[in-house]
Amino acid sequence: MTNTPPICNYEGSDYQTSFWDKGGRKYEDRTEAIAIKRLLPQRGRILLELGAGAGRNTPRYRGFERIVLLDYSRTQLEQAQQRLGQSDKYIYVAADVYRLPFVEGLFDGATMIRTLHHMADAPKALGQVKNVMRPGGTFILEFANKLNLKAIFRYWLGRQTWNPFSLEPVEFAKLNFDFHPRAIRKWLDEQGFTVERMLTLSHFRIGWLKRIVPTGILVFFDSLFQWTGQWWQLTPSVFVRALRGKPNSMHGEETFPRFASLTAFFKCPNCGFAQLEDRKTYLECYGCGKKWEVRDGIYDFRESM
Ligand SMILES: [Zn+2]
Repeated sequence: MTNTPPICNYEGSDYQTSFWDKGGRKYEDRTEAIAIKRLLPQRGRILLELGAGAGRNTPRYRGFERIVLLDYSRTQLEQAQQRLGQSDKYIYVAADVYRLPFVEGLFDGATMIRTLHHMADAPKALGQVKNVMRPGGTFILEFANKLNLKAIFRYWLGRQTWNPFSLEPVEFAKLNFDFHPRAIRKWLDEQGFTVERMLTLSHFRIGWLKRIVPTGILVFFDSLFQWTGQWWQLTPSVFVRALRGKPNSMHGEETFPRFASLTAFFKCPNCGFAQLEDRKTYLECYGCGKKWEVRDGIYDFRESM
């Protein structure tokens, strides 16, 4: 087994309830819904949702025929299952983003929202995403921006030691990283993605403002200001739409057979072999013999059985 960077694990976490449902995040949630609508194609075949958590954003991808919800935490996926149910449309996969268990070129869409934030090796994770996407596919990436106004003022006032203008990520809490927009652009470029659009979000992520101004008004103005992200990015959250490949190169090409069985989606994260045998309660790799558990509708590729 190859060494991979440390992982931020939400196993057993009540993140969905404490942060989203009760945490006064309605504003953030609604501005994200707007950004997704603006960036994601209306229709598609297979979308990979990286860091799906409890499936908060998943219903927003309903234009895709199938959605693979990927998370490292099984308990988060169980919460997503309760929310979305078990059907052919949703495929639940517990796996490590640094060793994605999918064949190359499978997905025509991918999203990674509030997830890169926890990546100790962001370029490596982005490289994995590229591998499993087909040329011309659309990748929606959200990242936490270190170059935000609050951080800039705190730095100028001497209340913050790290420099928001430098390109390296800042780990402000264990396995919580903020990134510089130019570094993100560079990494995407190195992986062969073409950045098509940037939107800035959470212009009004200020506690007292959120308490006195009705959420709908903040959401309205944020949705207008989002477009300025194409020119400058000074908010704590930034959305990027990137194309896998260069514009007009192999655009719209479909490389994966439409009616392939589910097991044809997967490859062994241990040896990379793309032929796995479905044994009902597990998938068995023909390459290395490892067995990957399938239980209660969740494919588990974290540790072999
Ligand atoms: Zn294998």
